Amino acid sequence: MASMMQPQIILLKEGTDTSQGKAQLLSNINACTAVGDVVRTTLGPRGMDKLIHDHKGSVTISHDGATIMKLLDIVHPAAKILVDIAKSQDSEVGDGTTTVVLLAAEFLKEAKPFIEDGVHAQNLIRSYRTACTLAIEKVKALAVSIEGKSVEEKKGLLAKCAATTLSSKLIGGEKEFFATMVVDAVMAIGNDDRLNLIGIKKVPGGNMRDSFLVDGVAFKKTFSYAGFEQQPKKFLSPKILLLNIELELKSEKENAEIRLSDPSQYQSIVDAEWNIIYDKLDKCVESGAKVVLSRLAIGDLATQYFADRDIFCAGRVAEEDLNRVAAAAGGTVQTSVNNIIDEVLGTCEIFEEKQVGGERFNIFSGCPSGRTATIVLRGGADQFIEEAERSLHDAIMIVRRAVKNSTVVPGGGAIDMEISKYLRQHSRTIAGKSQLFINSYAKALEVIPRQLCDNAGFDATDVLNKLRQKHAMQSGEGASYGVDINTGGIADSFANFVWEPAVVKINAINAATEAACLILSVDETVKNPKSESAQGDAAGAMGRGRGGGRGRGMRRR
Ligand code: ADP
Ligand code: MG
Repeated sequence: MASMMQPQIILLKEGTDTSQGKAQLLSNINACTAVGDVVRTTLGPRGMDKLIHDHKGSVTISHDGATIMKLLDIVHPAAKILVDIAKSQDSEVGDGTTTVVLLAAEFLKEAKPFIEDGVHAQNLIRSYRTACTLAIEKVKALAVSIEGKSVEEKKGLLAKCAATTLSSKLIGGEKEFFATMVVDAVMAIGNDDRLNLIGIKKVPGGNMRDSFLVDGVAFKKTFSYAGFEQQPKKFLSPKILLLNIELELKSEKENAEIRLSDPSQYQSIVDAEWNIIYDKLDKCVESGAKVVLSRLAIGDLATQYFADRDIFCAGRVAEEDLNRVAAAAGGTVQTSVNNIIDEVLGTCEIFEEKQVGGERFNIFSGCPSGRTATIVLRGGADQFIEEAERSLHDAIMIVRRAVKNSTVVPGGGAIDMEISKYLRQHSRTIAGKSQLFINSYAKALEVIPRQLCDNAGFDATDVLNKLRQKHAMQSGEGASYGVDINTGGIADSFANFVWEPAVVKINAINAATEAACLILSVDETVKNPKSESAQGDAAGAMGRGRGGGRGRGMRRR
């Protein structure tokens, strides 16, 4: 009775759902494992693609971890962290997005039995952090620099890096072709940080091999008026005028009102308008420009006027294209036609309008400041070209990283096996529970070669045993052995040019460990009743159910 009289303490709003303790932690781990299971099969050159269609009915086929994670629309609060690390890996280094998710999920999976046995999460976190630091030091120590090589040699090496990235993609069959293209494009923009200087234009139709690189800017012919066909379509070293104004005859707006006392004055009003536009056009012509581009409309009057004077014009050019022309050709975009001096005009070696498949393209090549390149992609289905674009993006990022950091590590799971071995060795020097945790971390790293095998249909246990044996060799000569994706055995990844920039691995290990530690450190989730939604519940339940079942089923050793 006495206890009933005690005042009740209400801390949270009615309907708030809190779950806490070990059960909550395990449920979070299960959700993350389930996410890992989704992307697992896409890893590596023999990985499978995912077809995702959203509620709007648009279909995406992708192999890219970040793209898949973004499209999955994950609602589980803990699993969302994995989406974030995939995104950050994508924006930070551009590749290794599947790797990072897989590693994080595997770290958590390895932690699960310890948590179940009552180990405090903080102990695990501390050991994981130590292991991460050691692993990264090891990657740095093993990385090989490609600095100090001649340009030609360097280009060849960079193309190898790009080819490794592309080998896992839909366009992997043509990886050499695209790798050289990507390297040329990246070399063209030099040290500029703006990625949008490399344009990728998609033209459906044709063959992949019909894709080509323009050492300058290319964009689709814009909407044009009568008179356009009379304009010349090719110039050598033309002056290029870039505008951000409308060259159109403005008819007065509906609500404009002009009062005239004398009908003869009407003509003067009409004339005034014509004079304004003719004045603008004259100034453009006087500037000496042979190519006039504008972000806004260029009307039929102006088109005809330019045609009569052998000038090419294009209106409604997309802003990014116009900026790229400005960067490449060296002009500046003008907002007025008054006082156009030579300095604001750009130029290029060749300007021409060319037919590409069913589209016409305006192509500016041989630009003086050169710092731009455009890849025109051809191919069958829309989804195909889009996936090709995403793949090229990965490759471009990798080459840029390699240019900047210029250290590489052997791929195909070789570096992962080597760190794993190193950590196992290290763990033996530690007394106490931490030994077990670091050992688990080391085991988790093996997920990369194991998954590469699984996805290619090889016997993972067999290959991994061979790899362990190679990497355990005292002489260290087996350090760069990884999965040989062609034969199902093992091969020296370094000799086979399966290379990855060191920064991709470093970032992936770092981000995956951070995410795993973050999830391990959560022991309570509080759901505010307001933020609760039917969809969230359904998906949450699914995540838990699936993760729980699979998590146990998938454990291998
Ligand atoms: P991510 O999104 O993580 O980059 P990928 O599907 O691109 O995932 O797969 C990358 C993995 O595939 C890396 O571990 C890389 O070393 C490996 N890999 C790429 N090409 C080959 C190859 N030819 N042989 C063996 N492994 C390869
Ligand atoms: Mg990749």
